[in-house]
Amino acid sequence: MNICLNCKSEYIARYPNQRYCSEKCSKEARRKSKIEKQKEYNKAFTSPHRQQNANPKRNKTSSLDETVREIEEYNKKHGTRLTYGDWQVKKFFGEV
Ligand SMILES: [Zn+2]
Repeated sequence: MNICLNCKSEYIARYPNQRYCSEKCSKEARRKSKIEKQKEYNKAFTSPHRQQNANPKRNKTSSLDETVREIEEYNKKHGTRLTYGDWQVKKFFGEV
């Protein structure tokens, strides 16, 4: 005797690895698991994704603004015309 994973009623399996009492329960369980998976997916990806997009993006923008301002000041002070790329290279080598 087996217990249906969907309706928890007992049934006699007609084929190996049968997990549900009927085709109806099997379909229902599949539909439920699809919904559960969708929920899990939403929990795992959608909301953290949204948070991830909201915060670091703001930080990145403000630090980019800062860098641009730094470059402008450096250029004014030194009479140079460094681009953002030039600046990043100089910064990497510790020249600024
Ligand atoms: Zn069932």
